[in-house]
Amino acid sequence: MRATKAIIHLDNLKHNIEEIKRFLKPQVKLCIPVKADAYGHGALQVAIAAIKAGAHALAVASIQEGVELRNAGIVCPIMSLSLPTLAELDEILLNNIEPLVMDSEFISALNERAYRLNTIGRVHLKIDTGMNRIGCAPEQATDLALQIADSQYLELAGIATHFAVADSYTQEDIRFTHEQIRSFTNAVHTITAHSIHCSCVHAANSGAILNYPEAHFDMVRPGILVYGYLPSAQSKKQKIQLRPTMSLVTQVVLIKNIKKGNSVSYGCRWTASENTYIGTLPIGYADGLSRLLTGKLKVKIGGEFYPIVGTICMDQCMVDLGPTLRIHRWDEVEIFGCSEKSNTAETLAEQAQTIPYEIISNINKRVPRVYFE
Ligand SMILES: *Cc1c(COP(=O)(O)O)cnc(C)c1O
Repeated sequence: MRATKAIIHLDNLKHNIEEIKRFLKPQVKLCIPVKADAYGHGALQVAIAAIKAGAHALAVASIQEGVELRNAGIVCPIMSLSLPTLAELDEILLNNIEPLVMDSEFISALNERAYRLNTIGRVHLKIDTGMNRIGCAPEQATDLALQIADSQYLELAGIATHFAVADSYTQEDIRFTHEQIRSFTNAVHTITAHSIHCSCVHAANSGAILNYPEAHFDMVRPGILVYGYLPSAQSKKQKIQLRPTMSLVTQVVLIKNIKKGNSVSYGCRWTASENTYIGTLPIGYADGLSRLLTGKLKVKIGGEFYPIVGTICMDQCMVDLGPTLRIHRWDEVEIFGCSEKSNTAETLAEQAQTIPYEIISNINKRVPRVYFE
């Protein structure tokens, strides 16, 4: 196996799910997003661990992701969160994937295909209450719910919305989220007033799970919390003890001594200010270690932090081990991890000016995963 690997702590994932449950009423169901290969953790292994920990359903982004889980033997409800095309109707129905629907054209086409395939399609009506990404306008929701109810081969499995700023604590954002909740609740009430039955109303992402208990409804969709991170830095106010689920490690594969004034890596942008030892690490931006971390990242070797120097390359990068060598060839290097003294995906996110979501989901398939139960 490659020196570079992502260690996935499924025990931490289980712990995080237990922590999330402390925020929920016992009857509230969990739908765990495993999109983007479970935020980089491996969709199948996370799916199995999440179901064991009590998840009722899983959520994917593309139909393809759902099909892969079905082919691997996952039988629980799988919802797809992004909009499929009309070319994917058969795959949706044959694999019993539950799409979000939000327009009359798609609903008719799906009903028609379900009739041809002699099956029932389960769908979730997605209402856009302010995200302006996907979903129908709240005013259209009742008509669409009626259309679904009238579609002989469709079943209304859920009614959903999605929050834009539920992880923010500014007055303006709190007002915005309250307005989203109000608009969604109204739409749901109008639908039920037309005697359309739906037992699964869902809205809450990680931010809303922490901050808006009134928006938990029948089911919640916690993504980032499950993987051990808060949805935003401000969420630190919340009393939830999360444990990162991924650590990213590699090894020092070569050590060389360079002279003061010598440069390292493409562009010769870093020059040694004294004679020093340089270690080479077999990890680069094509593994998901962003080139934006150049000049910022420090990595942990033998309990100490050493700076990455020179431009991060596609497959490799270099670390300054200092003028007196305490590190040996083949020593393990932690890029980010889960222990108290570790860099976390949050550290890297700050340095690359992004969010932990992007750091972890960018660790791609070239990096082998090692699982701990
Ligand atoms: C990704 C996603 C979630 C999970 O979001 P987190 O912020 O990771 O909790 C929930 N709902 C929808 C529709 C999503 O796309």
